[in-house]
Amino acid sequence: MNKLFIISFLLFNACAYQDPYFYDYIGKIKEYCLEYAEDTGNCDMIEMVSIRFADGKIIENGDNNIIAYCYSLDGIYIDKEYWDKSTELIREVLLLHEYGHCALHRGHNQETELGYIPKSIMFNPSGSTARFYLKDKDYYLDELFNGG
Ligand SMILES: [Zn+2]
Repeated sequence: MNKLFIISFLLFNACAYQDPYFYDYIGKIKEYCLEYAEDTGNCDMIEMVSIRFADGKIIENGDNNIIAYCYSLDGIYIDKEYWDKSTELIREVLLLHEYGHCALHRGHNQETELGYIPKSIMFNPSGSTARFYLKDKDYYLDELFNGG
């Protein structure tokens, strides 16, 4: 039993890869987690999820271009073209959304207030949440780390 645990732990770590470009973002998201999560047990997961720019791995889905993706065992892929033209606000919301999938195991939440204000950063597409996140960051961070 112990051996099995050690082997799977090594495999998991061996597979995790964070592009150094994202180190500061990873640190920031972990800080948010430690500040907002009532149960900080999942916060360590944030540093164990792989993250990198996509290399032709992001698929196009009908008329909806996928700009980032969380593959459960493979981590987060970000479309570099989208990233480069995005503001820091959009980037932060995008990463929070993807870590919501990959580290917190949350799915999408399409609920809205008044028909247009997303109730969660897990709203898809994540960019729709950005301007509301800017105004009500506390609410969205609390919902992300404690909701779902
Ligand atoms: Zn998503």
